[in-house]
Amino acid sequence: MFIGAHISIAKGLKAAVKTAEKMGGNTLQFFTRNPRGGKAKKLDLRDIEAAHTLMQEYNFGPLVGHAPYTFNLASTKPSVREFSLNTIKDDLERIKQMGVPYLVLHVGSHGGQGEEKGLSLVAQGLREILSTIPNEVYLLLEGMAGSGSELGYTFEHLQSLIKACEEHPQLGICLDTCHLTGAGYDLQDLAAVKKGFAEKIGLERLKVLHLNDSKFPVASRKDRHEKLGEGFVGLDVIKNIVRDGDMQKIPLILETPNDDQGYAREISLVKEMIS
Ligand SMILES: [Zn+2]
Ligand SMILES: [Zn+2]
Repeated sequence: MFIGAHISIAKGLKAAVKTAEKMGGNTLQFFTRNPRGGKAKKLDLRDIEAAHTLMQEYNFGPLVGHAPYTFNLASTKPSVREFSLNTIKDDLERIKQMGVPYLVLHVGSHGGQGEEKGLSLVAQGLREILSTIPNEVYLLLEGMAGSGSELGYTFEHLQSLIKACEEHPQLGICLDTCHLTGAGYDLQDLAAVKKGFAEKIGLERLKVLHLNDSKFPVASRKDRHEKLGEGFVGLDVIKNIVRDGDMQKIPLILETPNDDQGYAREISLVKEMIS
């Protein structure tokens, strides 16, 4: 299995890989640039090479880049849509150079325009991004909780975007156990949630899972992460998920409210669950 946490690459990718390994992890997720947007740091190719050497030594799985939350392909403002589109393209080039296969993107918020209009703007942006996507990298749409005017909180939304992009092979999905809960998918019945996803989207498109507990109950439409076992998902459900054969093939990323030690504890907890 591949398990890790969201950690900073402010000190470089190699330092982040070391931190992840110290936590007991064998993957990690990082922000491609400041979460509020802004300019990306110049890539340090020597650091990247050193990171990959370490990753081989430690038997790491694939790493995951996460786009800033400020990107919104469904914004009411054309300037925000344009900025998001160009910066996502740039981030795809950057993760390619970093040897990182996945860029996770929040689907976007329609800001009052309505879901249909919002989804059509997102589809338009995605088609343009995918027309120049570098090979060997995937853009992953993240399933959301559905708070505010968020799009992409149902499998139907995600399915419609994939269809609108003519089922592009480099468009994948990232799910989040907290967001699924908020959106109304009750993971107590993991088999039913998986079946719904498999029928509408196909399990082969699921490339990353964010492993978080939720401060709020099923169908709350709230996105507030909690430590594993301290929220409404609970350890029994987490155990079912991490023991699932399909989930053991993809990176599981903790985005729980923790410091490094807290992440280390959760990683060992997950490892105990599968042993
Ligand atoms: Zn996210
Ligand atoms: Zn979240």
